[in-house]
Amino acid sequence: MNAPSAQMVGNKFVTPNWHSDFPILKQKVRGRRLVYLDNGATTQKPLCVIENQNAYYSEHNANIHRGVHWLSQYATDLYDASRDCVQKFINAKSSDEIVFTSGTTQSINLVAYSWGLNNLKKGDEILLTGMEHHSNIVPWQLIAKKTGALIKVVPVTDDGQLDLDEYKKLLSDRTAIVAMVHVSNAIGTVNPIEKMIPMARAVGATVLIDGAQAVAHMNVDVQHLDCDFYVFSGHKLYGPTGVGVLYGKHNILDSMPPWLGGGDMIHTVSFEESTYAPVPQRFEAGTPNIAGVTGLKAAINYVNTIGLDVIQAYEEELLTYANNELLSIPGLKIIAEAAPRAGIISFVMDGIHPHDLGTILDTDGVAIRAGHHCAMPLMTRFGIPGTARASLALYNTQDDVIALVNSLRKAQDLFGVTGSK
Ligand code: PMP
Repeated sequence: MNAPSAQMVGNKFVTPNWHSDFPILKQKVRGRRLVYLDNGATTQKPLCVIENQNAYYSEHNANIHRGVHWLSQYATDLYDASRDCVQKFINAKSSDEIVFTSGTTQSINLVAYSWGLNNLKKGDEILLTGMEHHSNIVPWQLIAKKTGALIKVVPVTDDGQLDLDEYKKLLSDRTAIVAMVHVSNAIGTVNPIEKMIPMARAVGATVLIDGAQAVAHMNVDVQHLDCDFYVFSGHKLYGPTGVGVLYGKHNILDSMPPWLGGGDMIHTVSFEESTYAPVPQRFEAGTPNIAGVTGLKAAINYVNTIGLDVIQAYEEELLTYANNELLSIPGLKIIAEAAPRAGIISFVMDGIHPHDLGTILDTDGVAIRAGHHCAMPLMTRFGIPGTARASLALYNTQDDVIALVNSLRKAQDLFGVTGSK
């Protein structure tokens, strides 16, 4: 590898020492340097986000929107500033299009229950893909049962990409919504959504994009994409857990009834009838995760300071390096090797179950994930119970990849597996 330690990006010379921004990475696990390669599950937090959370509870904590006192107004300003920050981050037209949720899962459920229950009818089709996370399958199944809508699935090719010919065939005037993942959490495939969204629009379908695995790895411009909904979680973007985003085009959000009722989402309430607040408040019933929302802004500011184009270039180089190093191990097969991928390498090894791999790697301080990655239908598609998954973030280094490879070779020795290559 020429070096992910230093590279030219545009006319900028970048030397990534970003791992030093993440206090948790300095600790030892089982007496070994922590090699954290489970970023698809959640990312670690930079010091600025940790300090932001500390400052919020040390200095700024109050409930928002309802207080006349100084602290409440201050907390409200912080909360609103985060909305503006997210709006700019994904280039939404207006900050009213940003709804704060607890995460991707809640964002999808909100759309399924509010938009889905009120717009889907018997015979309508919900078009998913064969590489969805369970959180973009199960809510739609629940709504399909209630409405009589049908779920259709875009198949995945042997090399881990969506079959676009089949996608084209599946689209029709019965397609009410296309709900699809931007980057697969299980195999890392980056789907060509720029091409797929206009195809869905051409048949009049609404489009939801699950960006949980995308926003930390590439620039996302929702106006350019022209999707109706785009959802993601803060904790996979170096932010706190328990906060997420539902972006929705203003006109579609505005047409949707509330999903959860309670404080903060109303205009007036009487026992006979209640009227509701405009969007986005209509969808933010009760006290939200105020600290988490402010922490999300700190995380986005951190990412913006480096620049997603710089992060993307670095991670691509590291992924290519990791890919080649892993392929040098006999008996190791990467799933979706040929597909355009971001951040994730999913693999299986002859003679060693992924869970055993995960356990052995852990003894070396190497944290990966093993299993079905909440994408059981995709595992079934490939005829495997699960994979071992190494997922990268901006703080991973060449040394991390070397540690991974060494530990995998050690696992082969322990299992007496020599591999077939
Ligand atoms: N979609 C994808 C593609 C994901 O990777 C995940 C998390 N693994 C989710 C949805 C669910 O995210 P959360 O658990 O933060 O709601």
